[in-house]
Amino acid sequence: MSTEINAPDDVVIGIDLGTTNSLAAVMTPDGPRVLMGADASPLIPSVVSFLDNGEQIVGRPARAMAVSNPRRTVHSAKRLMGRGLEDLGDETDKLAYRIVDGGSSKLVRVAIDERTYTPQEISAIILGEVRRVAEAALGHAVQKAVITVPAYFDDAQRQATRDAAQIAGLTALRIVNEPTAAALAYGLDTSREGTVVVYDLGGGTFDVSVLKITQGVYKVVATAGDTHLGGDDFDNAIMARIMDLVQERTGTDLTAQPEALQQIRLSAEALKQELSDKTEVKLEIDLGADEPALFTLTRTEFEDLIRADLERTIACCRSALADAGVQNDAIDEVVFVGGSTRIPLVRQLVKDALGREPHTELDPDRVVALGAAIQADVLAGGTKDLLLLDVIPLSLGIETMGGAFSKLITRNSTVPCQAEELFSTSVDNQTGIDINVYQGERELVADCRQLGAFKLTGFPAMPANLPKVAVTFLVDADGVLTVTAREQRSGVEASIDVVPSHGLTRDEVRGIVRESIVHAHQDFAARELVELRNKADALVRGTRRVLDLPELPVPEATRAELEADLVALQALAAGDDLPALKAACQSFGDKTQTLADDYIGAAIKVELNRHASETKS
Ligand code: AMP
Repeated sequence: MSTEINAPDDVVIGIDLGTTNSLAAVMTPDGPRVLMGADASPLIPSVVSFLDNGEQIVGRPARAMAVSNPRRTVHSAKRLMGRGLEDLGDETDKLAYRIVDGGSSKLVRVAIDERTYTPQEISAIILGEVRRVAEAALGHAVQKAVITVPAYFDDAQRQATRDAAQIAGLTALRIVNEPTAAALAYGLDTSREGTVVVYDLGGGTFDVSVLKITQGVYKVVATAGDTHLGGDDFDNAIMARIMDLVQERTGTDLTAQPEALQQIRLSAEALKQELSDKTEVKLEIDLGADEPALFTLTRTEFEDLIRADLERTIACCRSALADAGVQNDAIDEVVFVGGSTRIPLVRQLVKDALGREPHTELDPDRVVALGAAIQADVLAGGTKDLLLLDVIPLSLGIETMGGAFSKLITRNSTVPCQAEELFSTSVDNQTGIDINVYQGERELVADCRQLGAFKLTGFPAMPANLPKVAVTFLVDADGVLTVTAREQRSGVEASIDVVPSHGLTRDEVRGIVRESIVHAHQDFAARELVELRNKADALVRGTRRVLDLPELPVPEATRAELEADLVALQALAAGDDLPALKAACQSFGDKTQTLADDYIGAAIKVELNRHASETKS
């Protein structure tokens, strides 16, 4: 096979930065291929271990240190990317190393001895190793990459991934969704149109994505999954059986012995993998003075241990398909990703549930990296007929008067996308406005998540409602949001790139969407109240302005009546009796309409009189 590739400067590699393993691939004239390490494997365990002497080791040797150095051996850093302590909840309890609050950034850090590391720094160490392996395999420097992330990663998590690449000296030209990369690797591209289900069961997570391909455009239309379901659970199930046996034989509870646990974990994983090819496996357990204990496990017993977990993955598939509005007979392809899809029962259950034989021709550990290499080649100018699109997980917008959330880009919009809306001021002589950027599905910003804030200042003082501020939201192909505000009369402009301080899991995204449906009625009323208050405010200001005009001598009785109405309206606007406020706005609006008509009439009369006297003289 020829290994000729682009000139070094142009080379863009594809990187699958996984929770368990990471690897790189590159396009060759014979198609994409993974880049092998010195150990003849492309897989680099996504593990970093910090040694006593200050040295840090990465990959396979680091994973081996998990037994002897558990508190300084960091695995699953991907789960921590762009997340705060609150986001992680009790997830941190499952980690042998220490997680601390990152202070002002609200993002977590990993504490090793006296130092703390951001998850980006840990991922950067892994990416650095991936880069070293790639450079050794290619024989030249590598600077650019396409990196894959789960489809449900939000802006913060994508940005964290980009930052990790930068720390590792790599430019992430594109962040691509993992299921999209998998579909690309199978060549389910321009020539085919249809629906692809990507079933990804790895070590710690399960994701299912429904992709639609139309005219060479890939779109993730629905995702579901479980961030805590995967091969590790199957290992745990086998571990529990082994520990039961040890307890039975020796009365020893190994739960509180981390090193013994790590050793058993490694054995359990090895047994599990063997069971994908064999129908029975055996393990001799050294019990010190006693006879070694013989542990046996049949494939059928193992399948019984994991069946409930696998049924959950099938339920997720059904839910994603329902979200996408896709029936089984409309599924064109099913693609397998992740090492755990090698388990024969997984294949059987997925085939039975979806009615399609899943694609297993490509190695499920390599398929995402291979797809990333294809996308990398598109960016390097090789393949020209592919376009990749992904979607915005939650609506994006700004706060408007009274705490209302005005959405500019709605959820599920395809990136890249852009939206613009005109806003104005609510107070006379305002020379600046605050732009508060939010993400969410509810009607009031109080129920949404703030992503960022900036001020547009320095435009000339004008009466309320006169400035025209165009607010533009631009989400680029990598999901980075740029918000720009421009006052059109003066040309004053300000903008920010939003780098959110928090991450959200897909489960949270789903929760937020569900909540918006549950609260729809109540939110609508709250929004209407905000809008009525704004209207009452405008009526009060407008009327006061007219009452103060010298050209329009309002009769004292009318003035007194209007003043009393104004006070009543203001009192209602301060309360939350929506029907009463609505009725008051309506009747006050009608009443002041006459005043406005009189005002215009008087102004016309003044103008006509002036005109008549001018023509006479
Ligand atoms: P990934 O996260 O995609 O790298 O998948 C890693 C998971 O796949 C780990 O839990 C592995 O133990 C599991 N795995 C790898 N090979 C096999 C196999 N032959 N049978 C069952 N599970 C496997």
